[in-house]
Amino acid sequence: MSVVAAHSASSTEAESGITPGGRSGRFRDVLSSDHARRGKPPVHLTDLNDDERKQRAEALGMKPFRARQLANHYFGHYDVDAAGFSDFPLAQRDEAVQEFFPTLITAVDRQEADQGTTVKTLWELFDGSHIESVLMRYPQRITLCISSQVGCGMGCPFCATGQLGLTRNMSTGEILEQVRVAAKMARDGELAGGPGRLSNVVFMGMGEPMGNYRAVMHAVRQISAAPPEGFGISARNITISTVGVVPGIRKLTQESLPVRLAVSLHAPTDALRDELVPMNRRFNTTQVLDAAHDYYLASKRRVSIEYALMRGINDQAEHATQLARRLNHYGDDWVHVNPIPLNPIEGSRWTASKPEDERAFLDILHRAGIAATLRDTRGSDIDGACGQLAAKHR
Ligand code: SAH
Ligand code: SF4
Repeated sequence: MSVVAAHSASSTEAESGITPGGRSGRFRDVLSSDHARRGKPPVHLTDLNDDERKQRAEALGMKPFRARQLANHYFGHYDVDAAGFSDFPLAQRDEAVQEFFPTLITAVDRQEADQGTTVKTLWELFDGSHIESVLMRYPQRITLCISSQVGCGMGCPFCATGQLGLTRNMSTGEILEQVRVAAKMARDGELAGGPGRLSNVVFMGMGEPMGNYRAVMHAVRQISAAPPEGFGISARNITISTVGVVPGIRKLTQESLPVRLAVSLHAPTDALRDELVPMNRRFNTTQVLDAAHDYYLASKRRVSIEYALMRGINDQAEHATQLARRLNHYGDDWVHVNPIPLNPIEGSRWTASKPEDERAFLDILHRAGIAATLRDTRGSDIDGACGQLAAKHR
């Protein structure tokens, strides 16, 4: 059985995206009230497992092996244009494209920064909602930051996406289309620096990946599987970032995939994290760190701890010391801390740390034997940096 078939979600099953207790806490992981009216995105090849693809082909009067040819166009060549399907009977090309590759995302705006090595795209979805993804070229890699939900229901007050609330979950097809288009852009030299290969994918755009677990995992498997079953981007180069939805981290641990887990901690104590991350009232720092450490034990992959440095709030020496103590409690060398200067968002009362406080914070972690690197704020001038994605038209 192929990777895709073995783990596929049935495209017909409903996924609520509602975290148990989502109506009771201060976070509101509830779908918007007009969510039912919006309906579901058109079914895409990547929403289906192998058997479903073959059945769909047969229902259209095509030979079942056509499904595999289509997958090869999609994953091997990033191609959804009927004109390029030379291995297909002419009469069936258009129908195949309509039925397997409906247009799920349409670029409505594109902004560049860092001399064209950062490109943010605003996408419109079938129901008129908007999401964003950001493509970034580094000396040794090309990274795509993708969205997994329209908005986010977790309500982190320092995050632009959090201010939107959750509109709906994205389908696997909608998630994967961001990857296909970016991989094509990189290959075709549309990113400054010449043609290259998309090497990394991070779920750090809009949304909480664990709130849309099934579609995200189906996407992850197809990002990592070798063509023609997937894009062939190693699972080791895929990062799933979570606000700390513990059941999601536990489920991910069971998947035995070598993806990187990133946990958005932002505070070393419950008292402070309760203020910054509403989800902490549901799953506290001990539960989150326990689950993260278990993920490390099972996967042998260092966990990333994301920590947005907010001036005078969580960026003082005492916070760094407490953080180091909490992390070292679990042993050595199991985490990599990524402090990132807060990217200010409109109307927020929090601002980025002073550079000297950032340095002191890092120094304390380093002296405590903890790997830590200050994350860059790529794309902040085009609101393309972490936490700034709000899918706004210019
Ligand atoms: N919902 C997931 C993934 C998307 S957010 C999560 O929270 O982990 C991606 C990262 O950006 C997270 O680490 C998040 O905490 C961080 N972030 C959000 N708002 C930010 C801001 N204004 N400045 C810097 N980082 C921010
Ligand atoms: Fe959602 Fe992550 Fe933003 Fe929190 S930081 S609101 S979990 S996207």
